[in-house]
Parts: sequence; C-alpha cells; structure tokens
Amino acid sequence: MELILRDVCKVYPGEKKGREVKAVSSFNLVSTKKEFIVFVGPSGCGKSTTLRMIAGLEDITSGDLIMDGERMNKVEAGDRSIAMVFQNYALYPHMTAYENMAFGLKNTKIEEKVLDASGKPVYEIDKKNVAYLKRQIAKIQKSKKMSPEEKQAQLKRYQKAYDIASTTPVPVTKMVHYSKQEISARIQEAAKILGIEDLLSRKPKAMSGGQRQRVALGRAIVRRPKLFLLDEPLSNLDAKLRAQMRVEISRLYHALDATFIYVTHDQVEAMTMGDRIVVMRGGVVQQIDTPTALFDYPANRFVAGFLGTPQMNFFEVSLLCQGKAVLLAFPDGQKVSLPLAKMRKIRPEYLDGKTHEAILGIRPEHLFFAEGGLKAKATLSEILGSQTQVYGTLSNRQIVVEAPDRVKVGEGEEMEVAFLPEKVHLFSASGEVSILANGKGEFLSAPEVQKKGE
Ligand code: ADP
Ligand code: MG
Repeated sequence: MELILRDVCKVYPGEKKGREVKAVSSFNLVSTKKEFIVFVGPSGCGKSTTLRMIAGLEDITSGDLIMDGERMNKVEAGDRSIAMVFQNYALYPHMTAYENMAFGLKNTKIEEKVLDASGKPVYEIDKKNVAYLKRQIAKIQKSKKMSPEEKQAQLKRYQKAYDIASTTPVPVTKMVHYSKQEISARIQEAAKILGIEDLLSRKPKAMSGGQRQRVALGRAIVRRPKLFLLDEPLSNLDAKLRAQMRVEISRLYHALDATFIYVTHDQVEAMTMGDRIVVMRGGVVQQIDTPTALFDYPANRFVAGFLGTPQMNFFEVSLLCQGKAVLLAFPDGQKVSLPLAKMRKIRPEYLDGKTHEAILGIRPEHLFFAEGGLKAKATLSEILGSQTQVYGTLSNRQIVVEAPDRVKVGEGEEMEVAFLPEKVHLFSASGEVSILANGKGEFLSAPEVQKKGE
C-alpha cells in the first residue's frame, strides 16, 4: 500500500475555549511499499492520535491522508482496508476464539459482481449515477455563485461524465455477506499463520495472555487489510512473552502482504522491529529513518538520548574549529582535540574560527579507558556477565562507560577515558540540531525531516 500523510495536524478541543490540545503538528510520512513502520516516543507525544487518524477513528484537523492515491480524510473507518490491534485486545468473553475472529467478517458486507446464468458479469447502464449527474448539471446551470467561466468548465466536465455514464453499461454489483465457507477458510488460514489451530473452540478465559493476543491478531488478519495498525499491542504482557510476541509479529509481517504501523514507547521494540522508525516528541516528528541510521546519525539531542541503553552521555562544551582539528573544552577546563578528517562533516557555520557553545554526545559503549584520556571519577560499577557498566562523573556531569569485559573499578577511583573521533556526536547548544552530517552527508533538522516525510 502507498501511504502518505501530508501536514497532518490534530487539535483536540478543550473543555474551555483556549484550552485546545495540539496533539499532532504537521506530520509528514511517505511510504511507497510494504514496510514495517514504528512510531516511537514518550507517553503523550501523539503516537496513538496519529494512528487513530489513519484508522479513521479520529477526525483529521488539517492536512491530507492519502492511501493508494486516494484522499481518505472523510472515508469511514470501515471502508479503509485497515485493521487495528490495541493494547487491551478486548475479545468477547462469551465467544470462542473462532467466533471472535468470525465476528467482524459476519458483519461486513462486500461489493460483488452480479453474474448471469452462464457465470458472466451482468452489464447495465448505471441509472442512479446517470440521474445523479443530471441533477448536478441542473444545479450548476441554476447556480448564481459561480463565474461564467467556472460554470462553463464545470458543465463541460459533468456533461462528459453524463454522456459516458448514459451510454456505457457497467458491471452490476450487489452488497453481500461473506459466505460461511469463505469465513471458515480465512480463519483457518489465520489460525495456521498464528499457530492457534488448537485454540479455535476455546473461550478467552481459558487462554493465556499471549494466546489471547494471538486471537486479537487473528481477528485483524482475517479481514486481509492492506494496512495493519498496532497500538502498543504487547504492553500488557510480561517481559518474556513480550520478547516472544515481538518475534511473532515480525514473522506475521513477513507472511502477509501488508504494511504495518506499530506504536510503542519502548525503544528496544522500535529498534528490533522497524524497517523505519518515526521518532516523535510533543506531537512533532523528530526524525524518520532506519533503526541503524537513527542510532548512528541522530538528528538532534532528543533522538540521540531516546535510542540506546544506557543513554548517550552528554556534555556541554565549547567548540573551536582551527585548521584541521576541532578543539573541545569541558566546563572544568579539560580539553580534547579531534582531527576533522576523522569526523563526519561539520556544519559550515561552525567552521568560522570562532568559539561556539555545543553539546558533545558519546555513547557509553564508545568510551574506553586509556592512559592520558579525560579525567573522570568512578562512583559505581556493575558487572553484567560479559560487560561492565561503570558510572562516574566527568566535568561535573554523570557518565556511563560500558566496557566490553569485566573490570573492577572502586568507588571514588580516578579514571582516564577516551573515545574515537569517528564516534563523536555534536549538537547545537539548544540540542535542536546535529552539527554533524548524517550518513548521506546531509544536515537535516527536525523541520526539514518533517517536510520530507522520508
Ligand atoms: P501517545 O499515544 O503518544 O501516548 P496520545 O496520542 O494518546 O499520545 O496523546 C497525545 C496528546 O493528546 C496528549 O497530550 C493527550 O493528553 C492528548 N489527548 C489524547 N486524546 C485526547 C482527547 N480525546 N481529548 C483531548 N486530548 C487528548
Ligand atoms: Mg498511546
């Protein structure tokens, strides 16, 4: 499915005037092929609202929602070829798994061509459409609002449509329910994909949380939607089951011919499941990219801090580019000089030979102990099997060093830490933009990302 969101905004009316909630601002996303998209961000950042607008459960305040070339803003939820799975999967308790999965299908009508005795489609003039076009033409002729030119143009269009409709027979259709066989076949197929063939006659109370969630997914699959929307579907499950279901949902995605949009506040889910991730904050898209590109080239400090555990270390520094090196000075006076040639491209405005305030970011796994490195003081170290996380302070800021082996560092011990210039992140003093280019050599700020939607 081709899915485009163009400048989609959502404003919830507040109880009082002036109390409106701007839940989503100018959301842009372009998806042209089957893909697994994750919306991630802290609670309240507008993920569910965006998903519900795509589903048709929430009005779009402004902007366009386009699916396969058609503007869908005003199309009913039921007519969108979408299935949605929620966190509280709300199965009907008095129905079996089979009945739960069949329920939606039984109540859906589909358009079917009427066939003649020999099994060929019946063609007729669409009288309703002809009458509609005739009425439109009469309305335009009477209209006093239009300019003569506009009137002429409109009349020409409608007259052409009328001429075609009144002379060209089209297939006759009727709205029908799915047949019992069709419903059964779809449920068997979904049950097989989900591995719940043995559970079909069970009621929800006789199932585990994971099994119930599978039935909820089955209920979505049987509709054969082109777009799956999943809103934190795993957050009610315990950690082990969540990890298992994560793999199952990824498998399900590969088995189906549909785009998935998966909402989560969990960055691990986002990183492991997404082909692309949309990072949101306060209703505003921060960055859209593949998990590795987001991790390697975060466009601002928020994205850098949101993805990765332990979190990236940040330090306020003053930055001076001189000749072939960048000099970074920490508040406590420690300095480090990095060769420009080994770093990503730096924003030209920082190459003016003047000192700039900036934020240095380094991931814990990119810090290592080295003689002659920056001086820091340890406060705590935790050995996690094969690696060690050492907590401490550097220039009055907390740091975490992740050593890939077992090291013993005592409380209060002096440490010397270093990092490679290739692993450095630099952000503007406000944290709003990366000073360094991304993998394609571009400097993209959040508004630019939002404009492009890719
Ligand atoms: P998320 O799913 O990322 O946690 P939501 O999309 O649910 O965030 O909410 C985004 C913002 O919109 C929040 O500030 C939330 O309080 C607000 N909001 C959500 N639903 C409504 C509503 N029906 N009426 C008013 N405000 C709402
Ligand atoms: Mg939500």
